[in-house]
Parts: sequence; structure tokens; C-alpha cells
Amino acid sequence: MRGVVLHAPGDVRVEERERPAIVQPTDAVIRLAATCVCGSDLWPYRGIASVDRPTPMGHEYVGIVEEIGDQVSMIRPGQFVVGSFFASDNTCEICRAGYQTSCVQRQPGAATGAQAEYTRVPLADGTLVATPELPPDDLIPDLLAASDVLGTGWFAAVAAEVGPGKTVVVVGDGAVGLLGVLAASRLGADRIIAMSRHETRQKLALEFGATDLVTERGDDGVARIKDLTGGLGAHSVIEAVGTQESMMQAIRASRPGGHVGYVGVAHGVELPGQELFYSHVHLHGGPAPVRRFLPELIDLIWHREIDPGRVFDLTLPLDEAAEGYRAMDERRAIKVLLRP
Ligand SMILES: [Zn+2]
Repeated sequence: MRGVVLHAPGDVRVEERERPAIVQPTDAVIRLAATCVCGSDLWPYRGIASVDRPTPMGHEYVGIVEEIGDQVSMIRPGQFVVGSFFASDNTCEICRAGYQTSCVQRQPGAATGAQAEYTRVPLADGTLVATPELPPDDLIPDLLAASDVLGTGWFAAVAAEVGPGKTVVVVGDGAVGLLGVLAASRLGADRIIAMSRHETRQKLALEFGATDLVTERGDDGVARIKDLTGGLGAHSVIEAVGTQESMMQAIRASRPGGHVGYVGVAHGVELPGQELFYSHVHLHGGPAPVRRFLPELIDLIWHREIDPGRVFDLTLPLDEAAEGYRAMDERRAIKVLLRP
């Protein structure tokens, strides 16, 4: 089969690889209908996270179940399934509390890499959610978005306690930030302030439900949020970048008693204890337990109530994955869908 392998920073190759097979009796092998490049794939691509050996890439996936292990009982071959980036049993105490990405059996969801024709998914019964029937082709990008970026934006909004009567700030205008806007809108926020200086992303943010745009960032951005909120700051802030600047911007844009939902994978973030102490801000985040939200998100997509697949503004054949990485790295594309 064909699959994407990162050999070194900037060196993305699509290679002939061994087709995955069942290893554990709880595994499934799926044939991918679509996959994509994630903002977090750019960390090793840019050399910020280390790449010490050739690494199969990709953790976002939808597709048709080809094969299942002997102990898989809920997922069947032929079903169209959506899964998340971490596999989970969905039965342990942590999973049942809604934190499947900290499952006691946590492991990568696409064990052999999702940017490929096939992938092996561990703990298939707990990890995968099947659609009611085979989806029409135009819903595939929406379902693929549910696999990570929609679920992550949704968790960020829930973690930030978004709801009616709340003013929400979204830091980050990548796919997760934009879908955080969509989530905040669906969860009934009164006002949604998107922080973006990029025209096509601003436009999509407005279409997903943003009511205000702020182009300033850092301290200027925080000052602008304070202006817009009577000097108090926002009730809820979604942080979808993962840098020191974005995290501090999120904390400082929040009012005392407010909530920050942080889902940008933290790189080099160090929080000042004393500022945090006096801020009275709730921090809640981490790797989004996408599995918690999948049934609800698939249902909304199936009934065409949300269209999160609009974050994919470039579709390429899997063989052109290297161009997909470049387009995202250079911010020419918000998110790149790959067709195996
Ligand atoms: Zn579990």
C-alpha cells in the first residue's frame, strides 16, 4: 500500500509500505476513504519536535472496515467508521468519565499511520463509531473533520464552559480554532470573538458564527478584548495554538472566574505561578477526548446541521502529500484533505 513517511524535517515521502494486518484480537484494519494533514504534523515537519527515524504519519481517519480481530464484537467489516487519534477501550473508569484520551489502555488510534491506504486501529470496539449507513461522498470531509479538529474544537468549547449568555474568545485561526467558533455557536454563546489576521480564515470564522474579529495579538490583542468586554475579559476562551504567547493571551483575555479551554499542543509553554494565582482563571484542556463527542457530532453531520468539512480548502491525492505539508506550513491552506 501507499503511505506517508516523514524521514526528516521537511522530508515527506509517499512510499510503498507493508499493508497493516490484525495484530491484537481487538484490532480492526480499515481502508481509508480520506485522511488529512494536521497542524500538529507540522511540529516534526518544522523540526520543532524531533524526527529521529523514518516515521509513518497521520492520525485522522475515516473509512471502511476491512478486517476485524476475534474479540471485536460491535464493529463489523463493511461499516463506515470514524475514530480518534488515541485508541480507547471506552469501558475503563477514565473513559466512562469522558476522558478517553487518558484511557488506561491509551495508545495511538492509527497504529500504523493514517496518511495511507489502510491503517490498523487498536481497541476497535471502544475507538470506532460507525455511521448509520455508508455516507454520501459529500459528507466524507465533514466526518473526517469529526475525527480530530471538530472534536478538538468542541472539547475546547466545552472545557471553556461555553454556553448561552457567554462571551467567547477564540485564540488561533487554524482548523481547530475555526471549529471552536462553530462549536461555540452551536453551544449557544452570545458573542464569539475570533482572533485572526488572515482574510480567508476571518471569513470562515464569520460563517461559522463569529460575531467579532480581532486582528491584534499578544498584549494588544488582550487590550482589544478588554475593550470589547467592558474591561472585564471574556467568560470563555478557547486556546488552539499551543505557544507561550497564545497561552498567555488566552489567560489574560479571560475574566476572573472565567474558563480557558486549551487544546493547542503545548510547546515550550511555561506558566507564571503568581500571575496564574491572582488571575482566578480556570484552566482545563489537553488532548481532546474526541471519542466522547463522536456519536453526537456524527449525528449533527449526518443530518446536515453542521458543515465542519469546510475547513478543508485543499484536496490532494495521497501521492501529493508533500505538497499538502508545504501548503499548510506556508499557510496557503487551512487544512489539506488527502484522498488515498
Ligand atoms: Zn478506557
